[in-house]
Amino acid sequence: MAAGSAIQIPSRLPLLLTHEGVLLPGSTMRTSVDSPRNMQLVRSRLLKGTSLRSTIIGVIPNTSDPTSDCDDLPSLHRIGTAALAVQVVGSNWPKPHYTLLVTGLCRFQILQLLKEKPYPVAEVEQLDRLEQFTNQHKSEEELGELSEQFYKYAVQLVEMLDMSVPAVAKLRRLLDNLPREALPDILTSIIRTSNQEKLQILDAVRLEERFKMTIPLLVRQIEGLKLLQKTRKPKQDDDKRVVAIRPTRRINHIPGTTEDEEEEEDHDDVVMLEKKIRTSSMSEQALKVCLKEIKRLKKMPQSMPEYALTRNYLELMVELPWNKSTKDRLEIRAARILLDNDHYAMEKLKKRVLEYLAVRQLKNNLKGPILCFVGPPGVGKTSVGRSIAKTLGREFHRIALGGVCDQSDIRGHRRTYVGSMPGRIINGLKTVGVNNPVFLLDEVDKLGKSLQGDPAAALLEVLDPEQNHSFTDHYLNVAFDLSQVLFIATANTTATIPPALLDRMEIIQVPGYTQEEKIEIAHRHLIPKQLEQHGLTPQQIQIPQVTTLDIITRYTREAGVRSLDRKLGAICRAVAVKVAEGQHKETKPDRAEVGEGEDCKEHVTEDAKTESISDTADLALPPEMPILIDFHALKDILGPPMYEMEVSERLSQPGVAIGLAWTPLGGEIMFVEASRMDGEGQLTLTGQLGDVMKESAHLAISWLRSNAKRYQLTNASGSFDLLDNTDIHLHFPAGAVTKDGPSAGVTIVTCLASLFSGRLVCSDVAMTGEITLRGLVLPVGGIKDKVLAAHRAGLKRVIIPQRNEKDLEEIAVNVRQDLTFVLASCLDEVLNAAFDGGFAVKPRVERLNSKL
Ligand code: ADP
Repeated sequence: MAAGSAIQIPSRLPLLLTHEGVLLPGSTMRTSVDSPRNMQLVRSRLLKGTSLRSTIIGVIPNTSDPTSDCDDLPSLHRIGTAALAVQVVGSNWPKPHYTLLVTGLCRFQILQLLKEKPYPVAEVEQLDRLEQFTNQHKSEEELGELSEQFYKYAVQLVEMLDMSVPAVAKLRRLLDNLPREALPDILTSIIRTSNQEKLQILDAVRLEERFKMTIPLLVRQIEGLKLLQKTRKPKQDDDKRVVAIRPTRRINHIPGTTEDEEEEEDHDDVVMLEKKIRTSSMSEQALKVCLKEIKRLKKMPQSMPEYALTRNYLELMVELPWNKSTKDRLEIRAARILLDNDHYAMEKLKKRVLEYLAVRQLKNNLKGPILCFVGPPGVGKTSVGRSIAKTLGREFHRIALGGVCDQSDIRGHRRTYVGSMPGRIINGLKTVGVNNPVFLLDEVDKLGKSLQGDPAAALLEVLDPEQNHSFTDHYLNVAFDLSQVLFIATANTTATIPPALLDRMEIIQVPGYTQEEKIEIAHRHLIPKQLEQHGLTPQQIQIPQVTTLDIITRYTREAGVRSLDRKLGAICRAVAVKVAEGQHKETKPDRAEVGEGEDCKEHVTEDAKTESISDTADLALPPEMPILIDFHALKDILGPPMYEMEVSERLSQPGVAIGLAWTPLGGEIMFVEASRMDGEGQLTLTGQLGDVMKESAHLAISWLRSNAKRYQLTNASGSFDLLDNTDIHLHFPAGAVTKDGPSAGVTIVTCLASLFSGRLVCSDVAMTGEITLRGLVLPVGGIKDKVLAAHRAGLKRVIIPQRNEKDLEEIAVNVRQDLTFVLASCLDEVLNAAFDGGFAVKPRVERLNSKL
């Protein structure tokens, strides 16, 4: 068929097998490629080839490439379209694939398949002429009446569209400029046709046949458009261009075509969605918005990006629990038992929670302060929140706020945004599916701030009982009633919570645990939980209390119990290996029998040896049951102890004192060190100190200088002017952590007093308190955490300000019994308590220096 002036395609073509869509000459198609042969074709032909010729491929329709390249090729559709690969885009997600943009050139038929691997190549015969559009007139003459008729229909169709749209105007021009023989293919690919119809047009090799087959399709489209225009109101003219390309669904419906079925399905979906909206119990305002949106959705073509957005929005609106709630089953006595069963100690917290719940029981209204649990990590704040949900029979949802710095995280994005979504509150409600869950706002102290707004400000509305019945998420854009939600917040410190937010909440301090409390928590809760998680039973592993104490003192240094829990987990893992190994090697099936049988004695005598599971020799033997975790085993599993009691060592020279500091992670002991050297009276401070701490250091020096004679404090050359020819350096260890606050005042004074007097501070004394220039000791915060830290560190005496005496009541009796408290109201008392035998004040008698 090819004329002399026509362009020829290569006689051998690599074949791309497609089963979705049909590429007609003159049209363009995007196709995704992920099967082995097709991928190979793209890699070795399209990506490696450099010439234009290498980008020509044969696209075979209606044939799927087997998913494995070991499978045989299916029978190929006889006629295909030679095509130019215009664009190749590769992606690895969700699996490796390429997306090809191909433009059809002409038809060809397969003469012979030359090879099947790595991709099929065939000898082909070109079926259409591929001319450079120079001899149009000739072709027009040849086609005669059929082509004229076709042309008329085509013009009629295009003119029914909105000519003000540039693409339509261009199409109109193309109708005149293109050779008539190219029109059937091009129009078939533009108008709405099924794959089956396209395939028929592709197979119609004779031009006459092709015209004959395409004309009914054109007529169908024109009729469809006419009907559509009749049914539409004149004012909706603007939408014409959108709707015109996709005429109404049921006109000239050819049953059985897949695309029509799909469309029908979608239509059904929208109808279903509308039904769901109408039957859902959403607020009147929301219903109004949804119905408006669904009206828009019905008119929208699915290919519009907004279609998916609107649909997602409507689906969310239907899913939200507008009126769905769980029934509260609140009984204070049961709640008390449940809280006690789940948590050891934390009496104050449990008491307040019960009060809160009792008020709720009496007054069926949630308007009241939001509870905020403040304390170090791992003290059970989250877990109490979970228990509250359990006692109330409500759903529980945790919203982690740490690091959130965009207010749309709380309030959602407006729907005009690309990728907009609702905020975490609405998302959480969708997840739990009821409108009265317990929401735990975790880490409210770690909310950030950024250019995207202040999330704390957005939380204000959520937490305010007066406002939150009409909380408006930007994404929803209608009010949602949050008044049934029970909010509980947690934080490590109140210092970084914005004041306005703090004002909405009732703070309940959850201090750290004492060693005894930790041991109890470990044995009552943590160990049973870990055993269960690791599939162990108390018959297999035994952790005595002394071992738990060892873990607490030597392997962890924390206020809560989280690392203790982790360490117990590590022990259980190690034991699980032993037990599993033993079970594997054991010849006798029942362990209990072994214990009671005659082997018992033998095992007992070996007990001492096998007690430590570190013993490599016993690897070969099944271990004794239960495996006893002693200190050797502990060392073997957890490594050498991480913390040692170094207190007495550090205090072996003058110029060191132990202070007590409060951090968001609980109380800490802090060694303050001082040294002096020749110099010009400079004070150097190191250890990342804040302004308040630096001021405390200056205050301390000034007070000591003014009282030097009284206490017989001298510099190196014996002068009472302590800074005369002397530089002082004060260091607060753990230099990487910023420290601030006035409570180190008494420690600095004691440390410098030791330096200038050359006397050692007692090694078992720790202290805290703010000082004034006149030597008074003022109260400070965090006493309970600080005292617990001193107790943890094994100190015996704690000096605290007199006015902090009331805080001691909160401390457990056993801790109080272990420690001696010195209540100081002035620095004299502090110094007297800090040095063995007191820090004597000399009578104010001027000493005469000998001039001899
Ligand atoms: P937080 O939220 O304070 O950081 P979590 O609530 O996550 O701490 O608690 C950490 C773990 O410690 C949880 O497994 C919890 O069950 C356990 N835990 C903490 N305190 C107690 C307690 N008093 N009684 C029982 N278990 C506790």
